[in-house]
Amino acid sequence: MIDAHIHLDQYNDAEIKRIVKNMQFGGIEGLVCVSTNLESSMANLALAERYPETVHPAFGYHPENPLPNEEEVIRLLSWMEREERRMIAVGEIGLPYYLRRRMAKEGRPFDLNAYVHLLERFLSFAGQYGKPVVLHAVYEDADLVCDLLERYRIRKAHFHWFKGAKHTVQRMADLGYYISFTPDLLYESEIMELARSYPADQVMAETDGPWPFEGPFAGQLTQPTMVLKVAEAWAALQGVAPEEARCQLRENTRRFYGI
Ligand SMILES: [Zn+2]
Repeated sequence: MIDAHIHLDQYNDAEIKRIVKNMQFGGIEGLVCVSTNLESSMANLALAERYPETVHPAFGYHPENPLPNEEEVIRLLSWMEREERRMIAVGEIGLPYYLRRRMAKEGRPFDLNAYVHLLERFLSFAGQYGKPVVLHAVYEDADLVCDLLERYRIRKAHFHWFKGAKHTVQRMADLGYYISFTPDLLYESEIMELARSYPADQVMAETDGPWPFEGPFAGQLTQPTMVLKVAEAWAALQGVAPEEARCQLRENTRRFYGI
């Protein structure tokens, strides 16, 4: 299988070695490694050089980060242009749902437009180079992102760890967008519901590691081998054999990312 979304650069060196070794034993053949800023993009490119068959890097700026200044944006975009052939996708990009909520709670002002503008620059880059996009856009933000994807004529969109309203889910499914499930598929009823209804040929499995999980994964280091559990849970919800689920999730990921 393939872990369709992981922050491998956020693990320490000993953990990375252990993760790669466990992958080989667990039957995990590849990782889509997303980035959070320029430094993180460079780290993921270095990991792709170290593990060329395994690590497929995506470059971008995580939307839950503080807004970058203009110089940072230009440095990142020009570096991405230079390394364009090395990147599998543009990501992680999107809109800052959790940051915005936190600021609102604290009664602090928040400029969503500046984040929308930043996202548009990445979408324009993706359109120009024909790259898929890895999106962090949940709940009402996903509607806004769908509008932008249509405006920039981007068809290959992966909404990772997605959650949102029924009408948004329907719109995304109809437009052929992909979503992915994390290990919380084993214990979050909202996600199980989504997994039952979303088209089987538009879903993938991910860990978003090193993000920690609860339920049966409490206290464990998040690892790519956990996508095997995600596949098992998805198989049960879909009423198919685990082997069939693993194949389907793997094929979907390979088709979407061209790996
Ligand atoms: Zn992520």
